[in-house]
Amino acid sequence: MFCNQCEQAFRGTGCNSQVGVCGKDADVQAVQELILYGLKGMAAYANHARRLGKTDAKVSAFIEDALFSTMTNVNFDLGSLVEIAMELGKQNLQVMKMLDEGHIEKFGKPSPATVQEGLKDGPGILITGHDMVDLWDLLEQVRGTNIRVYTHGEMLPAHMYPRLREHPNLAGHYGGAWQKQRSEFADFSGPVVATTNCILIPNGDYADRIFTTRYTAVPGGTRLQGNDFAPVIAKARTCRPLTATALRQSVVGFHRTTILDAAPTIIQAVKDGKISRFFVIGGCDGAEVGRNYFSDYAKATPADSFIMTLGCGKYRIREHDYGQLLGLPRLLDMGQCNDAYGAIAVAVALAEAFKCGVNDLPLTLVISWFEQKAVAVLLTLLSLGVKGITIGPNPPAFITPNVFALLQEKFDLRLPGKDAKTDLAKAMA
Ligand code: SF4
Ligand code: SF4
Repeated sequence: MFCNQCEQAFRGTGCNSQVGVCGKDADVQAVQELILYGLKGMAAYANHARRLGKTDAKVSAFIEDALFSTMTNVNFDLGSLVEIAMELGKQNLQVMKMLDEGHIEKFGKPSPATVQEGLKDGPGILITGHDMVDLWDLLEQVRGTNIRVYTHGEMLPAHMYPRLREHPNLAGHYGGAWQKQRSEFADFSGPVVATTNCILIPNGDYADRIFTTRYTAVPGGTRLQGNDFAPVIAKARTCRPLTATALRQSVVGFHRTTILDAAPTIIQAVKDGKISRFFVIGGCDGAEVGRNYFSDYAKATPADSFIMTLGCGKYRIREHDYGQLLGLPRLLDMGQCNDAYGAIAVAVALAEAFKCGVNDLPLTLVISWFEQKAVAVLLTLLSLGVKGITIGPNPPAFITPNVFALLQEKFDLRLPGKDAKTDLAKAMA
């Protein structure tokens, strides 16, 4: 363990053995970090929801309580800390629900949409991150000009909301997951607006074109504290115009509301044996080679199954043609990482329809994680009692072997095996 949060930190640097000076042991420290990281993720979602006018006093009170439990000399009891972590998962479900409702109220009920991917000649602005209020404000401020706005990374799902996609200045999408942004932003000749994570520290060759909003900031970039995008628009006027690239099309917008609209057909198809399984494969993407596990897994899924994906983990699996099932694409892009709420809502609706528990459904979750919002989502799934989730490519470094064993015992939490096909065969069995 490593803890340096109080004055009595060992030798003035940190408690780094199995037990700290205060008596806190490594497992307690691990669950306190699980709570802290989960709270960070939940706070990010709550922040997005608040910007859409959605708040919940109970959620805010819980954040205070849970933070309190991680202070020095407050809680040394592993069992009660695990309880707090599970409550965090429940509260995060409420936060994701508020965010889901906020997006729909502001931008309309999502529906499947074809997105143009690639650039056209002329002035343009790229916008990345998760904050669609920023996207809307930017679009409104370029309305009536010849400046095109392109989404990047986790902004791709913006195209499923009618109010956003009907905006005349929203031209399409450019680029993939966050880890490729250094080359993609260098190639994009206009300004780039980063609204949230995941933003990389920019190289010098494009740092002067990076603008960030509110709490997001990088060295060399320009931080906008309000919603006035005038500096970005001025930059778009002085930058070299974009050069057209090859165009391709993709389909997004299989939000929970779209899937639930098709529920009667889907339920009947399961009863008729036409659908063998539902997979949720997605979450965060990253640069490690081990993440090919997720693309291998998706490719190995049977032709009579659906894959629901979300988060930037979708970029890892969406290049493959999975074909169609029941007139729908087999790969259903549900949206951003926070749209994990939608995957949960679909699972709960299916369980109700079949009068069974979520764990009795032909449903397998294979989650790629990277940062702290994924921790909050994992705690939500565990708090609902969902078992048999595979999470990877690596286990969280802040979790001790004892705590991981506890989660394995209680929730059958799994790590990716050596071979995705073997793991998939086990799931199907
Ligand atoms: S809270 Fe405990 S473990 Fe952490 S630095 Fe203080 S004495 Fe060490
Ligand atoms: S899904 Fe995760 S890794 Fe991807 S941009 Fe969002 S927070 Fe970052």
